Amino acid sequence: MRTMQARYHVLSGSIAASLLLPILGINSIFFFASSVLIDGDHYLDYIYRNGFKDFSIKGMFNFHRRLFPMESARNFLAFNVAHTAEALLLVYAAGAISGWVWLQAVFWGMLFHIVSDLVYLYHQGKLFRRPISIIEYIIRWQRMKRHGMHPEIPYQSALRSISVMPSLAEDKEGQANQQD
Ligand SMILES: [Zn+2]
Repeated sequence: MRTMQARYHVLSGSIAASLLLPILGINSIFFFASSVLIDGDHYLDYIYRNGFKDFSIKGMFNFHRRLFPMESARNFLAFNVAHTAEALLLVYAAGAISGWVWLQAVFWGMLFHIVSDLVYLYHQGKLFRRPISIIEYIIRWQRMKRHGMHPEIPYQSALRSISVMPSLAEDKEGQANQQD
């Protein structure tokens, strides 16, 4: 699923970047690069969720593969820091202040990617599962906790299923197996 999405971003990003060639010139490369590399924040999400215990790329792919079927659940709340209004604002401000066209191209690439993602999420029925702001994410996460929901559970079970954070029961089983 994720690879399919990555291919979709590479394809749509390269089409958009070539269409922008007359406006951005060589800086189209930065548009294309940011429109694809922004998904690198899935890696940050992975190491954050596992408490900085595992840094492997393979682990990240396995984690997101396990997480995917749980993403429609009511207690699921995604967080992708580069896909937020705050991240966009930061890059926009830096581009405006510096006047660097390459940085402005990075901003448009990010925006293009985020809008493409929103269309995709809408079709998947997951439009509201990923907050578009860091503040929104914090408020919603805390509100879910107050209402007795457990947004951490999908992450924990995805981690457990790739044995990055085994449950107590599994720990005991593992120890018993080792003794055998
Ligand atoms: Zn994305």
